[in-house]
Amino acid sequence: MANLILILGDQLTPDISALDDADKQHDRIVMAEVHDEASYTNHHKKKLVLLFSAMRHFAKQLEEDGWQVHYQRYHPDNEHRSLEAVVAAQAKDLKPERIITTECGEWRLHAQISEWHKELDLPVEIRPDTRFIATKQDFQDWAEGRKQLRMEYFYREMRRKTGLLMDPDGKPEGGEWNYDADNRRKWTGKPAAPATFRVEPDDTTQEVIDLVNEHFTDHFGTTDDFHFAVTAEDANQALAHFIDYALPCFGDFQDAMSDHEDWLFHAILSPYINSGLLDPLAVCEAATQAWYAGRAPINAVEGFVRQILGWREFVRGIYWMNMPGYAEENRLGNTRSLPWFYWTGDTKMRCMHKAIDSTRRNAYAHHIQRLMVTGNFALLAGIKPEEICDWYLGVYADAYDWVELPNVLGMVMHADGGYLGSKPYAASGKYIQRQSDHCANCHYNVNKSTEEDACPFNALYWHFIDRHRDDFAKNPRMGMMYRNWDKQKPEKKEALLNRANKLLDQIEQL
Ligand code: FAD
Ligand code: SF4
Repeated sequence: MANLILILGDQLTPDISALDDADKQHDRIVMAEVHDEASYTNHHKKKLVLLFSAMRHFAKQLEEDGWQVHYQRYHPDNEHRSLEAVVAAQAKDLKPERIITTECGEWRLHAQISEWHKELDLPVEIRPDTRFIATKQDFQDWAEGRKQLRMEYFYREMRRKTGLLMDPDGKPEGGEWNYDADNRRKWTGKPAAPATFRVEPDDTTQEVIDLVNEHFTDHFGTTDDFHFAVTAEDANQALAHFIDYALPCFGDFQDAMSDHEDWLFHAILSPYINSGLLDPLAVCEAATQAWYAGRAPINAVEGFVRQILGWREFVRGIYWMNMPGYAEENRLGNTRSLPWFYWTGDTKMRCMHKAIDSTRRNAYAHHIQRLMVTGNFALLAGIKPEEICDWYLGVYADAYDWVELPNVLGMVMHADGGYLGSKPYAASGKYIQRQSDHCANCHYNVNKSTEEDACPFNALYWHFIDRHRDDFAKNPRMGMMYRNWDKQKPEKKEALLNRANKLLDQIEQL
């Protein structure tokens, strides 16, 4: 008897576990662009184009490989507006023995699919997602009994497990586990950043661009200048482009920001890895081969591998171990709404304007902009975690709940009480000045803290430190901040807190 196999939009991998032992002759694959998934959050228009186009290309490839595929294209008047409705209609037609799928990347949909067997009166087999390097169980075994979970120790385990960047004696290549200290250079325009990898839209992509422009007008961002890869073949070209042109400098300028460059030396591979067009382990192997071949230095390659083998796997483990409660966390008690300029980029703060504008145009901002600019501001201003999480989930082409939520709620907002990160990434304007040239072009003055034109990050930083004394004063990594704060004259402290309160009162005008 036949099975009905559901493949989701971020499962565009030919050896996805749902297809294990499948029968091309009898089984039917279902893929669908449905209203509910496209509209449950304010997905960036470019993300919609990327996913719909990549899904269409993937379905075509499956058909050419001899699979039977039922593919539903998006239309607002589609009769079936949810995945369940599409699957139910196909099940009625095929009368399969079971429905098979690979576990999805977010709790919301996972909870729904886990209940389908009742409504559909059919067994629903949910298979593990073998594209991750650690299984959920591996992560739980590692986490068990540990008071604090620290990415660095998990990452070392993963290095040992995979043998990536390990020498034959089981020691880390180059002698160190982590070369982060070498990866903090400011970029002053030299060496020139490489041109971004581009794929011009083919007919399928152009059709989807037209569809998104017609039916998703209210969604964030623009489809202009869409140049993402939408097939595995092109995504592999993007990987090769990164290794050849950007990886050698990836480490040095990993934490840099520029007023003139959106992409710098970053990989721009997360949209492909997260949707299944690229395999994370293969990406790490390609980078390590570049080191063995002498084509990229160890600080670049180790730094890059750590992001995927370490951070990416770590946040996924945290997500599944702690959902659904994790999404509700707000340990710092934040109550402020997200300022409107997060959606428009209309702010006099140059660093924020640049990060948001890149996000709007590209569905991309690099890690340090997400963490130390838009994230840092939300942390200092005390934005409600659910509002800033919704923003990050909507605006990036690589955003999926399993990876966005721990990064935002845990890493940026410290709303989990330090479960994911040992200290909040709070910083004043000095950090942004050190890592970028934004301040030179800003309305505000980064060297001032209490005056009308003073950089907002400066006073907000001390306000954050002051109002969260009970949360952080005993944190050994925060001790110096509190000693510095306590050393300031009372008049200066008062002026800083007054300035911060004024900024918070007028937050929409910043
Ligand atoms: P590079 O900087 O070149 O890094 C290489 C790869 O490492 C990335 O492609 C990605 O696969 C992985 N990676 C790096 N850092 C992380 C991380 N912290 N967590 C998981 N993977 C990581 N990443 C997402 O994939 N989706 C998200 O929704 C997302 N939201 C984020 C929100 C915030 C507030 C922060 C601070 C980070 C977020 N990240 C997210 C992580 C990271 O910023 C992006 O993966 C990265 O910017 C993607 O661009 P890139 O491919 O050029 O990455
Ligand atoms: Fe950002 Fe402050 Fe620098 Fe302006 S002065 S760019 S607000 S850090």
